[in-house]
Amino acid sequence: MDNSRRKFLKIAGISAVATVGAPAALNLLTGNAHASSGHGAPQAAAPAAHGAPAAHGEAPTGKRYGMVIDARKFHANPGLAEKCIEACHTNYNVPDFGNKKDEIKWLWKMPFANAFPEHSHYKKDHTVHSMDFLVTCNHCDKPPCVRACPTKATFKNKDGIVMMDFHRCIGCRFCMAACPYGARSFNWRDPRGSENGVPFIKKLNHDFPTRMRGVVEKCSFCALRLAEGKLPLCVEATGDTGAMFFGDLNDPHSDVSKVLQSKFTIQRKPALGTTPSVFYII
Ligand code: SF4
Ligand code: SF4
Ligand code: SF4
Repeated sequence: MDNSRRKFLKIAGISAVATVGAPAALNLLTGNAHASSGHGAPQAAAPAAHGAPAAHGEAPTGKRYGMVIDARKFHANPGLAEKCIEACHTNYNVPDFGNKKDEIKWLWKMPFANAFPEHSHYKKDHTVHSMDFLVTCNHCDKPPCVRACPTKATFKNKDGIVMMDFHRCIGCRFCMAACPYGARSFNWRDPRGSENGVPFIKKLNHDFPTRMRGVVEKCSFCALRLAEGKLPLCVEATGDTGAMFFGDLNDPHSDVSKVLQSKFTIQRKPALGTTPSVFYII
């Protein structure tokens, strides 16, 4: 076992708190969806019921949302990744503190070697290795961040989305230590502030709450949009390029399932056992 895997397994065992569900009804594409808003939490309702993950070998029940990212389509469409990031970060009031150290990211780019370090890089394919990969929270089916959180500020809802309740977050950052993908960001500074007269949030979206200093944030899989029957903003931003697919992984007839059934895909760090819900065509 290498050092990084040993460290990950150790951190992931910080807490044995079970994965929890949430009452928000997110029925994408059914047209009768609605979302409840417990605890004044903007990103999601507060967790209320313990989830019951299917035992190994059992047929999956309920929804499990997932995403497929076709990296070659992004490579063939320069600027498309930036368009997706802009759509996400603008809508969710993601602050830009102007430096890497304090960076808050819900969706960002990463070279192949960093995104998929467990893959062999011997005599590498130069196209793949020159490509940037869009990465985000993997909404893991077995999320170590959820197990590590002492306040249930992060939880898995009944549709398989790993959510944040910003009001419950005490900023302990256990979830950040537990996530092996760097998918969570911590607000070291006040996102509502400014520097030299330039606000950290350039264009405020009044329909989504801003966060406070000391709170962790990350991609929500656009859960509130799903509740309205809409696709995630990043997926929508790809238009008809076929660069991203989204849907219920447990529905064999969903677009995302059909793509997975017909294309060779990989996940990030699958050996860690987190079961990511984001897949890549390379
Ligand atoms: S990618 Fe990280 S933050 Fe997202 S669910 Fe997995 S462990 Fe949690
Ligand atoms: S920083 Fe917030 S979400 Fe993360 S483990 Fe602590 S309380 Fe939970
Ligand atoms: S799914 Fe939504 S929140 Fe997540 S990266 Fe895409 S646009 Fe951002």
